[in-house]
Amino acid sequence: LVPDHWDLEYDVVIAGYGYSGGIAAIVAHDDGASAAIFEKMPRFGGNSILSGGSCAVGTEYEPTLQYLLRTCGDATDREILEVFAQGMIEFHGWLDEFAGEVEFGTVIDYRGGTYPFPGTEQLYSIHVTRNERYRGFPWVKGPRAGATLFWVLVEQVKRRPAIQVSLNSPVLELITDASGAVVGAVVEREGERLNVRANRAVILCTGGFEHDLRLREHFLEIQHTIAMSPLGNTGDGMRMGQKVGGAIWHMWHLHGGYGFRIEGLPFALRHPFNGYRDENRKMPWIAIDRYGRRFMNEYPPAVQDTPIRALSYYDPDIQDYPRIPCYLVFDEEGRKVESVARPAINDETITFEWSRDNLAEVEKGYIKRADSIEVLAERLGMEAETLRETVDRWNASVGAGRDRDYHRPRGTMMPLTTPPFYAIDAWPIITNTQGGLVHNARQQVVDSFGKPIPRLYKAGENGSIFGRLYMLSANNTECFIGGRIAGRNAAAEAPWC
Ligand SMILES: Cc1cc2nc3c(=O)[nH]c(=O)nc-3n(C[C@H](O)[C@H](O)[C@H](O)COP(=O)(O)OP(=O)(O)OC[C@H]3O[C@@H](n4cnc5c(N)ncnc54)[C@H](O)[C@@H]3O)c2cc1C
Repeated sequence: LVPDHWDLEYDVVIAGYGYSGGIAAIVAHDDGASAAIFEKMPRFGGNSILSGGSCAVGTEYEPTLQYLLRTCGDATDREILEVFAQGMIEFHGWLDEFAGEVEFGTVIDYRGGTYPFPGTEQLYSIHVTRNERYRGFPWVKGPRAGATLFWVLVEQVKRRPAIQVSLNSPVLELITDASGAVVGAVVEREGERLNVRANRAVILCTGGFEHDLRLREHFLEIQHTIAMSPLGNTGDGMRMGQKVGGAIWHMWHLHGGYGFRIEGLPFALRHPFNGYRDENRKMPWIAIDRYGRRFMNEYPPAVQDTPIRALSYYDPDIQDYPRIPCYLVFDEEGRKVESVARPAINDETITFEWSRDNLAEVEKGYIKRADSIEVLAERLGMEAETLRETVDRWNASVGAGRDRDYHRPRGTMMPLTTPPFYAIDAWPIITNTQGGLVHNARQQVVDSFGKPIPRLYKAGENGSIFGRLYMLSANNTECFIGGRIAGRNAAAEAPWC
């Protein structure tokens, strides 16, 4: 209930400083509201700063909507998708202007959507190009175009000194009045609990629940997952919203693939294949289960998105997941192609590198090496005969130019013929969760009957619109479209006092 004193006061209070929190603050500020961002971690950026920076956009409204309807199905209200489709049409022009104001530009990454659904041909994705104005973020390791986009965002926030940014300041809970309207939040700063009044609204931009083991165990069928995200993404915004009546959706849905866990490192490492599939890029490995059999197309259209689903098979006969871990097997030619893992870390205290030729990791024991397939099988604890059959069949498929088992594109296949042979454990890894609070087309958090919680908004991955199948590059777009709508509507609320 409303406390008898307030420590701080703003019109719009924002939890979390990733893309969605940053843009929500900018828009609320520009619409005349005083805005403050409270970020839990010592550094801002969240998952956003690690991203590939790709943003999905559309050229025509109706085909974009049709595509969204196919990916989201009945899991998301049409009205929300209509607003999103319109946002995607306007997005390229908007980002050009937003980045242009701080002297950056955009470039097209990919043409077409991820899947051949109606509307795919007019979709494309863009990212902000790096130039000499980009100085980088020293605490971010392995930054890609997502960090450049974050640089633009930070420059835009800095141009608005009235926006208050507090780091190391987790939002702990929401404050409601007797009617259930959200009138503020409790924030912890320097060991103190502060009552922060939100005269107009609170916006929850706290990202996903990638690092909350309990939420993962409750909501995901697949177990033994590990996430890429920084450690602050623990579903706080979702829980705070639930406490005041907010409903949740899309909880099972993950943007995730297969990747690596290294003892002592709290983050997952991804392999270097990402974004849209390049059907002419050789992928050195095949993935095999604990028995030595292939079980999936290792290079599907969105290689960092859907493969986690293939790993989730639970075998009741063994009461376990026979594909967790699975193993990526490659040969000497494959070892030389490129680093098997690409660290991307948003954490000042942790540094981790991977060698270009993977040899240091062989020496460290992360990658197992053997002179023959049979010895490799023994080292992996599986039947040599099965692994030999798998590799022979694969090599025959490569020779025939056709993967009859899982339809991996021909141009991505490499034979496993040159000893020594290698294997690395691969685990289900989460790039980001999609589940979280349900919102309406105005980005208001709603209860389980669809009724808005007064003065409470959200944006970004604390409850993505993507309910069935992710559209590559659209989580970033979602942060900006949703963040702008939330910022605008929050600023337009009449002050409650
Ligand atoms: C390696 C990688 C590559 C990716 N590439 C792409 C891509 O190219 N295109 C694309 O569309 N998507 C991509 N994504 C996904 C996308 O980046 C994320 O979905 C998106 O950035 C999420 O933004 P957000 O603002 O919702 O959350 P985040 O950026 O995760 O920010 C949430 C912030 O909230 C803070 N927070 C949490 N709890 C609290 C609390 N209680 N109080 C205050 N603050 C709190 C967190 O510390 C964090 O800083 C990628 C993700 C990764 C990891």
